Amino acid sequence: AVKIQVKQEADLKGKLKEVFGYGQFRGVQEDIIQNVIRGNNTFVIMPTGAGKSLCYQLPALVLPGTAIVISPLIALMKNQVDQLNAFGVNAQFLNSTLSKSEMNKVKKDVISGEVKLLYVAPESLTKEETIEFLQKATISFVAIDEAHCISEWGHDFRPEYRKIRSIIDGLGVQVPVIALTATATPKVQQDIQKNLQMDDASVFKTSFNRTNLYYEVRPKHNTKKQLIQYVKQRKGLAGIVYCLSRKKVEEIAELLRVNDVRALPYHAGLDPHVRMANQDAFLNEDCDVIVATIAFGMGIDKPDVRFVIHFDTPKSIEGYYQETGRGGRDGLEGDCLMFYSYDDIVKLEKFNKDKPVTERDNSKLLLQEMANYADSAVCRRKQLLHYFGESYPTDCGFCDNCKHPRARFEAKNEVVMALKAVVQTEERFGLDHIGTVLMGMNNPHVESYGHDQLPVYGQGKDHDAQFWHSLLRQVLLAGYLEKDIENFGVIKISQKGIDFIENPHSIKLTQDHNYEEEVKEEQE
Ligand code: ADP
Ligand code: ZN
Repeated sequence: AVKIQVKQEADLKGKLKEVFGYGQFRGVQEDIIQNVIRGNNTFVIMPTGAGKSLCYQLPALVLPGTAIVISPLIALMKNQVDQLNAFGVNAQFLNSTLSKSEMNKVKKDVISGEVKLLYVAPESLTKEETIEFLQKATISFVAIDEAHCISEWGHDFRPEYRKIRSIIDGLGVQVPVIALTATATPKVQQDIQKNLQMDDASVFKTSFNRTNLYYEVRPKHNTKKQLIQYVKQRKGLAGIVYCLSRKKVEEIAELLRVNDVRALPYHAGLDPHVRMANQDAFLNEDCDVIVATIAFGMGIDKPDVRFVIHFDTPKSIEGYYQETGRGGRDGLEGDCLMFYSYDDIVKLEKFNKDKPVTERDNSKLLLQEMANYADSAVCRRKQLLHYFGESYPTDCGFCDNCKHPRARFEAKNEVVMALKAVVQTEERFGLDHIGTVLMGMNNPHVESYGHDQLPVYGQGKDHDAQFWHSLLRQVLLAGYLEKDIENFGVIKISQKGIDFIENPHSIKLTQDHNYEEEVKEEQE
């Protein structure tokens, strides 16, 4: 058996070199690939650029039959298929851009066993005729790219993704699944596994920390002036400026151009030829700065992006992290600057008003997390990694909050009070309610639960809601409290928190930014 394994390892490396031209596997790629080849369910959570595609592409070549790759973006699908074809791999796709006869040809090639990878859009997948066709094919495994689209708690929910499991079950034979994503909070991760019924999956999760990225948040004030200054300081370097609307993209690209910056716009409303030409100009260094809506950057592999600016406040931390992740792919420094205003958050909330209720509530929570991140004076990296379920025990020293720390205050007594409030309300509530109880405020909730009778009720009335909110978030980050994965927004106490109540010690916390104040000081 040992011999066989050695041979297989050599074969995999041989294939890697022969087909893709790479000498080495990156990180845990080889372990993942072996897991897929053994027919196990596999769940891969790795940041963008880590090399996830290879984790299903290589097994597809080694195993008999066709691997089905479910991918949400038709444009990306074609790119990937073209790339594989260039490597001499028979890969094809099935989506709405194909004519009837083209579709039939693809299906014929799959059934005859020639095709090693078939990319399918989720919309096509759910069609009756596709299902019938798949039942005739020999399928090696199913790869689900951008698997976070399954979860309503993510930032990019796609209802069709929820049907994937039942379609796979309908194929009649047992087919292993590999799910891949570059963003997953613990909640989304759990949701994906539950929905795909792959609790048994081997999970491969690597750190999301991008040590070479510098994170900075500034209040939205004289934003255009700040932007021009920032970009001019980085003259000749490649950068991306994200804006929320097409109109803003055009306006900012123009603004930069009249300020002698080689900038071009990119958004879905542009003529496809212009859009492609602008993208190429950026890749070929005929343009330094691309001003774009979030549509830009997916699947684009430009290693030397030196800065990523969010001119408008992003909709979620997931999206923000993906977008900043396009900076510094070559490992050299990348600067990430976000302009923040609460008005943006309010505006974004209004956009959601036509969505179904649960979707709207989720979007609102994601927005609230974004606002919390911006307001907080705690190390940005610590916050970001905690959001994705990683603990980062020290401050990073490479973000605005680390470089310009706000004063800290002794919070031992307040922390004890807050932890007790969580315990006394029986670990069933979110930050807002706990703050309300501490402040001794009254509302129907407080009354109906009898929380005005608790010992902690009103003990924290010397501080306001923002203080308690900020304190609770910091205590959460430090691990004294935990998010309840089953109940979104609910906070529980950890063992560390229980120990703290029994044996309190000195703990220094910071106050949130007060951006209004900062702007005023700057003006004086
Ligand atoms: P992800 O899907 O995780 O965002 P990709 O699969 O697009 O990442 O890979 C990112 C880049 O890394 C691609 O250009 C890919 O060709 C390259 N790559 C992947 N695996 C290797 C490897 N073992 N050696 C060298 N380059 C690799
Ligand atoms: Zn930091």
